[in-house]
Amino acid sequence: MNLEQQLNEITGKACGKNIANCTDAQLYNGVLQLVKEKMQQTPANTGDKKVYYISMEFLIGKLLSNNLINLGIYEELNQILEANGKQLSDIEELEPEPSLGNGGLGRLAACFLDSIASLGLPGDGIGLNYHFGLFKQVFEERLQKAEKNDWIEDKSWLNQTGTTFEVAFGKKKVKSVLYDIDVIGYENGLNKLHLFDIETIDEDLVKEGISFDKEAIEKNLTLFLYPDDSDEAGNLLRIYQEYFLVSNGAQLILKEVKEKGQDIHKLHQHVAIQINDTHPTLVIPELIRILTTREGFTMDEAIDVVSKTCAYTNHTILAEALEKWPLSYIEKVVPQMVPIIKELSARVAKKYKDEKVQIIDKDQKVHMAHIDIHYGYSVNGVAAIHTDILKESELNHFYKIYPEKFNNKTNGITFRRWLLSCNRELAAFLTETIGDGYKKNADELEKLLAKKDDQAVLDKLYEIKKHKKAELAAYVQEKEGVTLDTNSIFDIQVKRLHEYKRQQMNALYIIHKYLEIKGGKKPTTPLTFIFGAKAAPAYVIAQDIIHLLLVLSEIVNNDPAVSPYMKVLMVENYNVTYAEKLIPACDISEQISLASKEASGTGNMKFMLNGAVTLGTSDGANVEIHQLVGDDNIYIFGEKSDTVIEHYAKADYVSKDYYSKSPVIKRAVDFIVSKEALKVGKKENLERLYKELLNKDWFMTLLDLEDYIKVKDQAFADYENQQKWKKMMLVNIAKAGFFSSDRTIAEYNRDIWKLK
Ligand SMILES: *Cc1c(COP(=O)(O)O)cnc(C)c1O
Repeated sequence: MNLEQQLNEITGKACGKNIANCTDAQLYNGVLQLVKEKMQQTPANTGDKKVYYISMEFLIGKLLSNNLINLGIYEELNQILEANGKQLSDIEELEPEPSLGNGGLGRLAACFLDSIASLGLPGDGIGLNYHFGLFKQVFEERLQKAEKNDWIEDKSWLNQTGTTFEVAFGKKKVKSVLYDIDVIGYENGLNKLHLFDIETIDEDLVKEGISFDKEAIEKNLTLFLYPDDSDEAGNLLRIYQEYFLVSNGAQLILKEVKEKGQDIHKLHQHVAIQINDTHPTLVIPELIRILTTREGFTMDEAIDVVSKTCAYTNHTILAEALEKWPLSYIEKVVPQMVPIIKELSARVAKKYKDEKVQIIDKDQKVHMAHIDIHYGYSVNGVAAIHTDILKESELNHFYKIYPEKFNNKTNGITFRRWLLSCNRELAAFLTETIGDGYKKNADELEKLLAKKDDQAVLDKLYEIKKHKKAELAAYVQEKEGVTLDTNSIFDIQVKRLHEYKRQQMNALYIIHKYLEIKGGKKPTTPLTFIFGAKAAPAYVIAQDIIHLLLVLSEIVNNDPAVSPYMKVLMVENYNVTYAEKLIPACDISEQISLASKEASGTGNMKFMLNGAVTLGTSDGANVEIHQLVGDDNIYIFGEKSDTVIEHYAKADYVSKDYYSKSPVIKRAVDFIVSKEALKVGKKENLERLYKELLNKDWFMTLLDLEDYIKVKDQAFADYENQQKWKKMMLVNIAKAGFFSSDRTIAEYNRDIWKLK
């Protein structure tokens, strides 16, 4: 049977119709079933050793288009649907986006699953099946409101497995259920994403917005993903979730090892566990607990084998984001963990006197990262500068003890999603120009450099960008009711909202530009500033920054003297689906975090791959982008990380000094509480933000503002030189190969996992 006959058979059985007569919704279900069957027929990736990527988040995005691409049937299905009067793109729109992650860390996990499978390596993800996931963002009165994100439908990518485990929280025992999502490699074998859920979950517990009864663990455990991704420690429920994840994960791993007939005394020869940030750290004591209480291991044996199995990835140097749980909380939730953690801590204390490397500190707090570093065999940072900072300052005390454990793995992104799927036009043109070898070997993108003076190639890249801008404009028109000028420069900052990412600095630039235009200084090409960002609901200043951005868009877009020259748009509920539409349409990629604070960033890589030029600080992977494209193909500004780190060490940054010294800064900051702004915005929010910038400004917005304005203006001026800009686009695409997550995963495998 050919593909068309197979699909006709499926829809025939499901709703008694052939393809041409199905509604789009019926067709979506049919295609979903077809693809699931095709994946199930694909052989699994196998080997004597397997990696488990354990993570509280997997921000996987919609799966249909990517699965079709990886199965190699996208084009064929596209043509079949067209021949039947249907559009694959319409079908894709109907898929809900799974809501299982916050931002970069979760998206990285998803890119890694794609690359592990695509390299033919045996490796599964282990995570949780949050029913309402991360909240859905809506704007009301220019404020963020959080609603539950009800993403799971009757027919979905989730497969019931029948596997269940018992998880004990002290005397209370709950039963888990396991759902699997198939992960198909690009023209390669099959792996799985294992998502654990709780049998007694009760969705009706959620009444208003995202509030619910936090006590009823057996009913609420997997309702929501905690939105506090890097600020404010969570609470008991978060520990319940973390333990539920790792206990199920540990049981699953040991079950699989035994089923394969492997020797659990040699666990490390058959299994590598990659711990994504500190959230799944308890997998270490949990494995030790199971091995000693159920498998007859001595404590020494268990610690030895687990320490050779687990590897830790650090994602941040923000002190407030490194988890430290009071021992009393852990005692309350999972008392069985306490003796193990105490034993691990005592062994460290016996060997090392330095207070900074202890697991349980003087205040009886458990430093999760310290468990990972002492009792794991690898510690990696996620970009060169980040790993250097870990070694030299943040984790220097550990680096001195275990220099051999530290290594760098610069993040990457899967090109299947962030090029082949989201920018089919560019992918097709690249294939036409340099062949399709780049799809499996991303370094081949460099072949494009030979076309740097080929006018037809340069023109076509620009034309594709224009086309993607028009597509985005149509989408935004429908979704947000805002009209974008496709002849304007699209300047985009999309990422979680956090002060260290400095959306507020971009806002101050916009104020500056607005006032300049009002003063008669008009840009040659109009400017469009686009934002997308969710803020943790408890993060007050982040909410205020969102409010400011919405206030500015109201003021700017409704000012007839200004709006022909500039527009500001904050899209609602930024997620992977939106990212896939925004990124291909971007001219200037805003990567403006305070140097030293963004561990890597991966948004920066997605934009580069799609021909945007980076405007950024020397932070995270921006540093490596800079090295690759050279000074002429990127806009770098701001203080370097060593200067910033010194400011923190000396506590000598005073934002008011910058405000008083510079009339430009003063004018922009004052606008936040101007009559004009207060007419549209809320006094409480705007005043709080104003005071924060003047009196604290912990992430040093004003330090870099003047340089930011200067360099950003230069970027806009350079855009006028079309020829120059086209070449910059080309160089950025050509040099993006390094950021393929296939390269990252090959390095993890070479240095850490060592799968055959
Ligand atoms: C890539 C991605 C991120 C991470 O962006 P950064 O700029 O690296 O912080 C966050 N959210 C979504 C939806 C993404 O696709």
